[in-house]
Amino acid sequence: MLVDSHCHLDRLDLAEHAGSLDAALDAARQRGVGHFLCIGVSVDNAADVKALAERYADVDCSVGVHPLDVKADAAPALDWLLRELEHPRVVAIGETGLDYHYEPEAAELQQASFRLHLQAAGQTGKPVIVHTRGARADTLALLREAQLPQAGVL
Ligand SMILES: [Zn+2]
Repeated sequence: MLVDSHCHLDRLDLAEHAGSLDAALDAARQRGVGHFLCIGVSVDNAADVKALAERYADVDCSVGVHPLDVKADAAPALDWLLRELEHPRVVAIGETGLDYHYEPEAAELQQASFRLHLQAAGQTGKPVIVHTRGARADTLALLREAQLPQAGVL
């Protein structure tokens, strides 16, 4: 069985499936994909990915704030993240991480958000989904600093 560990089902271009997510998922299932992990990217889309996980038995989801979605005036809060992670179909944290390629000026903001996600991972034991671009050294440094015992996806 194949597992798609990183898909954005709420953001798919469904043009080749006549606008139908059911048809897109069926096409993947027919090619051997037996499970999907739909990735959260923002506070705003957390409800969307949870709804998809509740709708399809073979879809689970993660919740988190993508580094390019971290905004200075709306940084994710740890208690929000921990509350979201209590949902039984939220099986992972992310995506989070660092992206200095597109937003080098937001490095500190992204690091604070990444640390917050890693803290939630430490408290819940759930795996972390890490996006990293142009930020290899800092990504590894923060992961080492967190000293998580569990696995994740980089
Ligand atoms: Zn992604």
